[in-house]
Amino acid sequence: MASPKIATDGEKSCPSARAVPGALLIGVVGPDGTVQPIPTRLEIDADFVDLASKKGVPEARFRFAGRCVEGKCKQWTGNSCGVIEKVLTGMVDQAVEPAENLPRCVIRGSCRWYSQRGADACRACVYVVTDQSMVAAPA
Ligand code: SF4
Repeated sequence: MASPKIATDGEKSCPSARAVPGALLIGVVGPDGTVQPIPTRLEIDADFVDLASKKGVPEARFRFAGRCVEGKCKQWTGNSCGVIEKVLTGMVDQAVEPAENLPRCVIRGSCRWYSQRGADACRACVYVVTDQSMVAAPA
């Protein structure tokens, strides 16, 4: 059975979700600070969350995907996700070059950011480390 944490049937996925059992692990933060995507579908369980939490906040070292809950998240602006808009604006302000290639990604078909900003979102995505301010948060 699909996890209730993961988008199904036309729902969108949040690519900056919390580390909770049932979420997907979609990336690992590499030594250079960019995210190395995980191209295979990998659902995490409670043991993973416990283990990862022993070394600090998991969202600082990994990227997780969950179900986009739209208006139930503080990052929802009313009709879109504010996180990717902030990320793209920040990259322009700081003159960060977008990634050359689109990373391989297991959630592109349902990704909220991709549906909003297309390839621009993916080229920015590898620079996003989900810290507490960027984590999807209950509204
Ligand atoms: S923005 Fe692109 S690369 Fe990032 S999670 Fe969404 S579809 Fe995948």
